[in-house]
Amino acid sequence: MKPFYIYNTLSRSVEELKPLNPPVVTLYSCGPTVYLPQHLGNLRTYISWDFLRRTLELNGYQVRHVINVTDVGHMTSDEDEGEDKIEKTARAEGKSPLEVASFYLAMFQRDLAALNQEQPMVWCRATDHIGDMIVLIERIVAAGMAYVTKSGVYFDVEKYRGARRIGKLSRQSLDEQHAGQRLEHSPDKKSPHDFALWVLNQPHHLMQWDSPWGRGYPGWHIECSAMSMKYLGETLDIHTGGMDHIPIHHENEIAQSESATGRPFARYFVHSAFLVGKSGSKISKSAGKFPLLADVTAAGLDPLAFRLFCFGAKYRSELALADEGLRAAQSNLDYLREFARNLPAEAAAATRDSEFAEEYRERFLEALNNDLNTPQALAIALELVAEAYRRNDRTIWNTLMFFDRVLGIGLEKTRAAGQAAAFPPDIQALIDERAEARKGRNFKRADELRAILEARGYEVKDGKGGAATYLRRDA
Ligand code: AMP
Ligand code: ZN
Repeated sequence: MKPFYIYNTLSRSVEELKPLNPPVVTLYSCGPTVYLPQHLGNLRTYISWDFLRRTLELNGYQVRHVINVTDVGHMTSDEDEGEDKIEKTARAEGKSPLEVASFYLAMFQRDLAALNQEQPMVWCRATDHIGDMIVLIERIVAAGMAYVTKSGVYFDVEKYRGARRIGKLSRQSLDEQHAGQRLEHSPDKKSPHDFALWVLNQPHHLMQWDSPWGRGYPGWHIECSAMSMKYLGETLDIHTGGMDHIPIHHENEIAQSESATGRPFARYFVHSAFLVGKSGSKISKSAGKFPLLADVTAAGLDPLAFRLFCFGAKYRSELALADEGLRAAQSNLDYLREFARNLPAEAAAATRDSEFAEEYRERFLEALNNDLNTPQALAIALELVAEAYRRNDRTIWNTLMFFDRVLGIGLEKTRAAGQAAAFPPDIQALIDERAEARKGRNFKRADELRAILEARGYEVKDGKGGAATYLRRDA
């Protein structure tokens, strides 16, 4: 297996991935809080984990991927105060919390399917795992790292000291991590930085469960610790999330998990950068208005153009949502699809590609193995297709299929559809002759052939690099 390198937020450096039990890699991605649609920024983050997962699979790893769904306990403040986000929407929409969560989860999963995201091994909903959370909280209490008060069970941040102190991941003090947040110092808490593992005595909260401490509901952070460890073991290989999760959420996950188990929680923490809007600020739900995948399709673009748009930027770089960028991604998608659609049957059936493709395969994998350098990988894929046109040798299909295992744009489906709509032999002969004429820069002949094809009922559209599309007008 080739070495795969990834930036580990824990060490602030690019490290070679050394999974605990190769070829298995355990991967946990912090999932959405399902109280509103997931915007393009959220989707960018999940697509990044799809690139990561597919790259690991391309390298021969078996990835056990878990994504959670937060359907209780995430407060509007992101701290212990405020209203439960799901319940807030439920009240506003006159629905039950379960209806709200199921509705937005289904919408999210439809978007991911449209983006060709591979299904995780497990989708886990917080409300289905309350028992696991209670058992984990009991372990933390038994370890002496949490205390019980009237308003809840709190993690005792002060006790978590020394080298393990909260701040290892973010390299921030507690005050820095909570800067900008409204921290009400509940008289029940020993320190304002202590966080709730279980919340008690909130009679207005709609979702409540029995626990050894009384009826209540879990805190947001404990959900991820309990569900990730349930499905993937006490030490995960890779834990992912957006950069906003580095302070507080992931710090707290580490503190409470390691307090319960005495083992490292995750070996690699991988964080994605934000998608920013036209004004340069982070796209966020709290802004009130945010772009959705439905807006991309309403603008006449393919959802997979958004996928390719994300592929064109590194997961660790901020990416600006811009119409030109999306259109450029659509044109790259069209270019790759056009090649697939018009692929000659012999090139598709070849078991070996032409020799020149070999080097591209290696470079593609090398780019991805270098901390998921997707923009470079995309450039290599486009370059190979251009080279195939230039050489008039399209025997590169195995290599393109290899690329598409990570690109995930469904090129085989496009090729099959193209073949089903194959041209009659006399038309194909005209098309081939025209391709030759264009290649030889005999534009006069190419124009004559265009006129003949048009007279025979075909629409002719020339693309870049010698590519062209031919469509039957009545098709
Ligand atoms: P949320 O539902 O707000 O918890 O967010 C779900 C995921 O999307 C988290 O991993 C966030 O870090 C991530 N996220 C939120 N906003 C953005 C953004 N503008 N760009 C990229 N990722 C984001
Ligand atoms: Zn989480």
